[in-house]
Amino acid sequence: MRRRMITLIAGVLGAACAKEVVEPPPPPPPPPNVVLVIGDGFGAGAWSLAREWARTRGEELVLDHGSAVGFLEVHAGDALVTDSGAAATAWSTGRLGPRFRVGPAEGEEVIPLFERLRAAGRAFGLATTSRITHATPAGFYARVPDREREDEIAVQLLDARPDVAIGGGRRHFRPRAAGGSRTDGRDLLSEAEADGIAVRSELAGPLPVDRPVLALLAESHLPHELDREEDEPDLAELAVAAVRRLEATGRSWFLLVEEGRIDSAAHDHDGPGLALNTVRLDRAVRALIEVTDRERTLVVVGSDHATASPVFLEFAHPESLEVVTASIERMAERIFEGRAWRGTPAELEEKAIPILDRGARHTGLRPETLDGLITAANRYDRRAVLGTAVSRRFGIAFLPCEDQVASAEVHGHTGEPVPVRAWGPRASEVAGVRDHGELGRWIAEVLELPPAAAPDSAAESADSVSADSASIDSDAGGG
Ligand SMILES: [Zn+2]
Repeated sequence: MRRRMITLIAGVLGAACAKEVVEPPPPPPPPPNVVLVIGDGFGAGAWSLAREWARTRGEELVLDHGSAVGFLEVHAGDALVTDSGAAATAWSTGRLGPRFRVGPAEGEEVIPLFERLRAAGRAFGLATTSRITHATPAGFYARVPDREREDEIAVQLLDARPDVAIGGGRRHFRPRAAGGSRTDGRDLLSEAEADGIAVRSELAGPLPVDRPVLALLAESHLPHELDREEDEPDLAELAVAAVRRLEATGRSWFLLVEEGRIDSAAHDHDGPGLALNTVRLDRAVRALIEVTDRERTLVVVGSDHATASPVFLEFAHPESLEVVTASIERMAERIFEGRAWRGTPAELEEKAIPILDRGARHTGLRPETLDGLITAANRYDRRAVLGTAVSRRFGIAFLPCEDQVASAEVHGHTGEPVPVRAWGPRASEVAGVRDHGELGRWIAEVLELPPAAAPDSAAESADSVSADSASIDSDAGGG
């Protein structure tokens, strides 16, 4: 009996030991997902304008309720204040490079984020209210010395083959003959479809999950929030559609989400437009926090630089923003129809006042504003003169144009540090002050990816990289 008991115990122990030997250890948890949400031109001023506007409606910004807040210095490799291309390139490569270039320089030994994600078997995508070929998204997938070469950048987007890309900029994918901007006659949309990419011009219905998706929702940028029609998608819808598409891959993923029009509203000195575009950014962040798993997905909100440093003045009354129904861009289009004014100041006033009254209940233009509108060098300056006049009535001021447009290289981005905030794994680590390159390196670390460059070459600063020719953005919202 005793002997049988011992045998039994031995048998049970043996089985238990054998079981321990054959059972594999649990697999390591998959690497976290990361959503990097960028407000192009989003600084503390834009944040406070959006906050005050939300308060007048009894609402709160989700941006006010995150973990720790940090600050980003806005340097580029060759200047105190970056442009969007250099900032995006720094997030992608972990290094500060020169302005107006997107992606690494030719011969630079650095592996951009998307390439490291692909090599690691991850999924990745883009969702933006700007053109998908614009500097911020392009900084993640393109390599061109000049950000304005957007036709070329469009070709590089197809080569990069993100799992999902949603934004504007259709014109850069179609030949001139078909209403696009391409002078090489190529129809990239047909080429993309032939290459197994699902091409969409709207977001209705779920996106295909068996192939990459390219959804181009506008010829150029998507409209300012003030000009958006009800049937046009919100940034939140773009972002959620992209998340669902990436989740469908079953792999860990990275998503860039950009509200690209805060910067363009700020260039236009459009206080109401800036506030509403920032509220749109906030809605997208709220949606992203709701649809992603907080244990698995880090949501980081940051910015490349502030633009024209908007501020509320002491006499501001944000509740009055409610009367505004059109952006400065839209009202300027209606007044000037793309041309300099050739008539008298009185004729200009006669045409402008009904348009400004309808769009912003603005019924008077000072003589110096009429003068400024007539003598402005181009449509950007015209919009800034108009925006300054309209925003002043709401108690919102911007750095004066003459202080901003000092040379062809400078067009309104300002040197204040910009906020960064996060939710999810390691979110509290955003506290502190870092530059764009450091933010990029931290994101890669959270994603558990190797660094973009070997440590010795990462130590080289951007001044070892040739600064490319500087130029002003040729279209609305330089970024
Ligand atoms: Zn800009």
